[in-house]
Amino acid sequence: MSTRAGIVVTGTEVLTGRVADRNGPWLADRLLELGIELAHISICGDRPDDIEAALRFLAGEGVDLIITSGGLGPTADDLTVATVAHFCERELVLDTALEARIAEILNRLMARLRSGEAPVGAVDFDTVLAANRKQALIPAGATVLDPVGTAPGVVVAGTPTVVVLPGPPRELQPMWHKAVETDAVRAAIAGRTSYRQRYVRMFGLPESALADTLRRAEPQVDGFERLEITTCLRRGEVEIVTRYEPDAEPAYTRLLALLHEQHAREIFSDDGSTIDELIARALAGRRIATAESCTAGLLAARLADVAGASEYLVGGVVSYANEAKTELLGVDAGLIAEHGAVSEPVAEAMAAGALQRFSADTAVAITGIAGPGGGSPEKPVGTVCFCVRLSSGEKLTRTTRLPGDRTDVRERSTTVAMHLLRRALSTD
Ligand code: ATP
Ligand code: MG
Repeated sequence: MSTRAGIVVTGTEVLTGRVADRNGPWLADRLLELGIELAHISICGDRPDDIEAALRFLAGEGVDLIITSGGLGPTADDLTVATVAHFCERELVLDTALEARIAEILNRLMARLRSGEAPVGAVDFDTVLAANRKQALIPAGATVLDPVGTAPGVVVAGTPTVVVLPGPPRELQPMWHKAVETDAVRAAIAGRTSYRQRYVRMFGLPESALADTLRRAEPQVDGFERLEITTCLRRGEVEIVTRYEPDAEPAYTRLLALLHEQHAREIFSDDGSTIDELIARALAGRRIATAESCTAGLLAARLADVAGASEYLVGGVVSYANEAKTELLGVDAGLIAEHGAVSEPVAEAMAAGALQRFSADTAVAITGIAGPGGGSPEKPVGTVCFCVRLSSGEKLTRTTRLPGDRTDVRERSTTVAMHLLRRALSTD
């Protein structure tokens, strides 16, 4: 018997997409780590009826645990605690100790406001003070989770047990860790199964080819049915996530061996590392520079996303116009006239220019047609030329035709560049 959970994300701003939901996916990962089966994530607005309907639905599905996010603030539209109390058939009672703790937090905030430390307008003070009492109303018998901001969370034990957390991710995350330690949550998840979860990441393999490999692996792997395999296509990479109970490890070992046999070239990671992490490791001790046309800095930004990038990322040139390619990277104007700005010779010249310009030992150049305009029969939208050059003289040049719209092509180009870079650095 496994433990199942559901998540109710509340907030009209999340429902409408103005704020992208970060709590559902974050909690989903935490549940997975704990070996709890996540059945549903339901997103609804701030209306109590809608929140309660979501709670009822999940309870009807027989989940053991429900986690809610959002609606704990002091304003009139923050009604999650009252709604959960109604749903769990508990009275709302004033927790005077909690009221005092909230007052203390508010006093500290007020002092900071007066001293000018906190920006004026950061807190609507009158509203917050008036609502102090409201935030100290909790369902009878519930366990209080101390606030990280000003809003306390609660855990209401029952069938299902409900954990009520605030909306801001920086408050929700530490409070979830506290919630897991409460007796009520421990009891609710006592029946969980422990799972292992492993990742295999590939590049340059169509999903259909992988499906084929998995089909053929089935009769060759003892205990294949004990492996819960999901594949997903992301940023042009295929990711295989396999979840299994620890005693099914031999089946996974066998599957992994088969995957390596079939797709040695395409597998770039089987230990959870992302291409960005692998590149960061491969660049240790090097100096990399970029020369970007259609991606206009996306690759440099992606390299800089990894903490510690200053150790190896020197800089980049956004050379969108032909003049910029010529003036900043020394690309011969005649070369552009002869082959076009989107061509392998120009990509190679851009990379050479970046190597020199930054006294780098590794350079990546990207030039392509992101669309929607600018395509031609010979070079349709999505045609992108890449070149990786090393100071040792090695050079890797590729032209690819990437699918999708402008955003997809530009985003995907950075992934292709990362994989080309990996290939160049691993043979260096
Ligand atoms: P507060 O006391 O800040 O009002 P709250 O618990 O009432 O806390 P909400 O009013 O639901 O939280 O959300 C406050 C803000 O937190 C939102 O405007 C949004 O910026 C952020 N937030 C809320 N829910 C999410 C979510 N699911 N994902 C990302 N950000 C969120
Ligand atoms: Mg709020």
